Amino acid sequence: MAEIKVLFATSEVAPLIKTGGLADVSGALPAALRAIKVDVRVLVPGYPQVMAKLGPHEAVASFDDLPGYPPCRLIFSIMENGVPLLVLDCPLLYQRTGGPYSDPTGHDWPDNPLRFGLLSKVAAVLGSSESPLMWRPDLVHCNDWQTGLAGVYLSVAPGAVPNVITIHNLAFQGNYRPTKVQKLHLPPESFSVNGIELYGNMSFLKAGLYYAYHITTVSPTYAREIQHEPLGFGLQGLLHSRSRDVTGILNGIETDEWDPETDKHLAAHYSVARMAGKADNKRALQQRMGLQEDPGIPLLGVVSRLTHQKGLDLLLEIAPKLMELPVQLVILGSGEPAMQHAAYHLVESYPGKIAAMIGFDEGLSHQIEAGADIFIMPSRFEPCGLNQFYSQRYGTPPIVNNTGGLADSVVDCNPDTLKDGTASGFILPSMTTDGLFDTIKRAIEVYRDEKKWKSLRKNCMSKDFSWETSARAYRKVYLKVLGRPE
Ligand code: ADP
Repeated sequence: MAEIKVLFATSEVAPLIKTGGLADVSGALPAALRAIKVDVRVLVPGYPQVMAKLGPHEAVASFDDLPGYPPCRLIFSIMENGVPLLVLDCPLLYQRTGGPYSDPTGHDWPDNPLRFGLLSKVAAVLGSSESPLMWRPDLVHCNDWQTGLAGVYLSVAPGAVPNVITIHNLAFQGNYRPTKVQKLHLPPESFSVNGIELYGNMSFLKAGLYYAYHITTVSPTYAREIQHEPLGFGLQGLLHSRSRDVTGILNGIETDEWDPETDKHLAAHYSVARMAGKADNKRALQQRMGLQEDPGIPLLGVVSRLTHQKGLDLLLEIAPKLMELPVQLVILGSGEPAMQHAAYHLVESYPGKIAAMIGFDEGLSHQIEAGADIFIMPSRFEPCGLNQFYSQRYGTPPIVNNTGGLADSVVDCNPDTLKDGTASGFILPSMTTDGLFDTIKRAIEVYRDEKKWKSLRKNCMSKDFSWETSARAYRKVYLKVLGRPE
């Protein structure tokens, strides 16, 4: 198998620094790629959270005169999962109290163009003949807007390698007024519609998409959806014109961390062959959340950010009507204040039938995946999504909207799919309150049919969500870009 060397440039990587799904992908995909002989190294900024968690490390290069940027250096280390790490150490830009993108009050750092311009610039230098390192990548893999300028810098760098960019969420684009970007020493010709300009702004993500040799995103359906309104968020024209270079690759999950046979958060372990433990988890969840202990009542679970994107406003709206059915509901999440209030109000109105925890609780999220009977995830859009994978792996069929990664990872339950063994959840016929209500009723009917429910759960739990399949698909993209045979 041919060896490919890849520099994976990212603004977050789990477990060192995480705000969202990008960190999960950056933490898991490089390790899965290394297992199939792709030599990946991860480049990430040296935020305090990263510096504090570094194992043995050494400085391997310094950059004192990158035009427009302060001095910085590269530190080499190896992550716990064995993936080599290049930390971009620039205390002036990254050593701050707060998050990677915003200050402790939640406002974006005003110098984010400079902070992520530098990350992009260093990625490009490492992918050119000006690199101070012995190790030279064959390709630079960029992720989201924070590394979007790498392609621009590579376009004028000597001996530059090609680059690929992955979109994890097109809604975040890194758009700035031109004055904010002028100091970054980009080639003058890039300041045009055939470059980084987007409706009068300078867009890091637009640049990334324009200059990349190939574009990937985190599910095949989302890859199609972003080529049109409304999910193209202004970039649909560019993406559509490059549609032959756009590939959707579904994310995997951490199958060791999310395993009902070994999960340390669960009251009891279970597997597709020994399902008894799932009932123990349901009882434990009902107890913990103050729900009536009833093994037979269908228990609906939600773990989510409470935002418009996730579509849970529909669930909160139909909850009173749902409560006329024999059903319980448990919600874990935080987000928009109006939705948080609505959830609390429902708990007060239906004690013992609806429970909610507003906040972030890793253990409870595992307990809901295991203890609920049906998982609810009616996102309006979902680049990939994770919870629908977890719920299937835990034998808790999900109800999902027909969009993005949800459409690609859940097969609607009907007589045909039950017969051929592919059914693994329920897909809304329409993103409406009626659509959601009717689908929940449909799921409860199947739940009441013991034989059908058993085979549905078995299908869910037998699916392969490991990163290996995704890693092979990324490797194929790299080989295509490099013009090498598979
Ligand atoms: P997104 O990244 O858009 O929020 P995903 O489904 O892709 O949605 O991933 C969300 C991740 O965050 C999952 O691992 C989910 O379990 C977790 N999560 C979301 N909200 C909470 C919460 N309140 N408590 C614990 N885990 C949560």
